[in-house]
Amino acid sequence: MKKRFLIGIFMILLVFNVTGCGANQQNDNVNVEDTVSKDGFLLGTYVVVKMYDSDNEEILNKVFDRLKEIEDRMSINIDKSDVSEINNNAGIKSVRVHDDVYFVLRKAKEYAEITDGAFEPTIGPLVKLWGIGSKDEKIPTQPEINDSLAQVDYNKLKLLDDNMVFLEDEQMILDLGGIAKGYAADEAKRILLENGVNSAIIDLGGNVYAVGSKPDGSPWRIAIQSPFETRGNHVGVMPESDISIVSSGDYERYFEENNKRYHHIIDSNTGYPAWNNIAGVSVLSKDSIDGDALSTALFVLGVEKGLRLVEKLEDIDVIYITKDNKIYISSQLKEKFELADEELELIIP
Ligand code: FAD
Ligand code: MG
Repeated sequence: MKKRFLIGIFMILLVFNVTGCGANQQNDNVNVEDTVSKDGFLLGTYVVVKMYDSDNEEILNKVFDRLKEIEDRMSINIDKSDVSEINNNAGIKSVRVHDDVYFVLRKAKEYAEITDGAFEPTIGPLVKLWGIGSKDEKIPTQPEINDSLAQVDYNKLKLLDDNMVFLEDEQMILDLGGIAKGYAADEAKRILLENGVNSAIIDLGGNVYAVGSKPDGSPWRIAIQSPFETRGNHVGVMPESDISIVSSGDYERYFEENNKRYHHIIDSNTGYPAWNNIAGVSVLSKDSIDGDALSTALFVLGVEKGLRLVEKLEDIDVIYITKDNKIYISSQLKEKFELADEELELIIP
């Protein structure tokens, strides 16, 4: 079995073109030596926060403390997290959670409804069954998949008064892996802004927030990196300020068997990894929680349904790159998006 598990390596990664995010770049009015940054491993991924208009390291410490707090409350891998408490009491009793957990759960349920279950916060039994990225990863049998599918249903996630949460069936498992990093990025941004930072980049393993603008006040130049392993460059560039960019794909956690890629984004209709011709999808939004939930859902939905959904949503944009070398962008990006890879055919609905 050929196995690949990438942590902190993102084939679609946002590079902040000529903003000094690259270690050797000192152009475009950003002097790298003026940046103060902190990195670490949190939320199961490599986190980097860079400030361009402040050298106060205390602010970065506050951001990291908050990220740790979010992990402690929302991780499925931490025994006493609110999410684990909900899971441990599934089918038994409701559990009171912190305000932030309740907020994320409300959003998760809202996106499950908007996407008709393409975003599925109770996907846990299937994630556990496949074990993608863990030492137990395997192709399950069809009866096993059917059993787990029967335990997946966001309608049975009950959000009650006073922050009480209940999973109706005993075998249900809540998994916020597809949305909590987005919330964490929003919280990191809030703390930076509250402390007077107006030019910063937050990168939570491919979940990126470009806070404010470049220190000179001009927009960041957001480049979407090519998801194709054989090509290094970015596929296109956009000027943007104060924007979240979240990418999902089948390239982050997967194993391959018989030339098929088994990856970590599961289709709750079939119980299998969502198979389609998408090489990567990136979502632009004001709040990263929206972009995170949507990037997962838009991957599952595929290009056609995904674009149709995005056109109905306010302030959300999407860039799909397909394995047959096409790049689809939502109509609002038409004026902004500069194609940089001539091997790709740009398609605007
Ligand atoms: P996304 O597309 O945003 O999300 C995919 C993830 O969402 C999957 O990994 C799965 O967890 C879930 N998912 C799958 N299908 C769906 C679906 N249809 N709808 C909704 N959700 C779905 N990783 C570790 O290895 N160890 C850790 O200890 C660990 N702790 C974490 C703690 C927290 C609070 C969070 C948020 C993440 C943690 N992670 C950990 C990382 C996590 O397991 C995922 O790899 C990561 O969140 C996936 O993000 P992504 O951006 O790659 O993909
Ligand atoms: Mg996501």
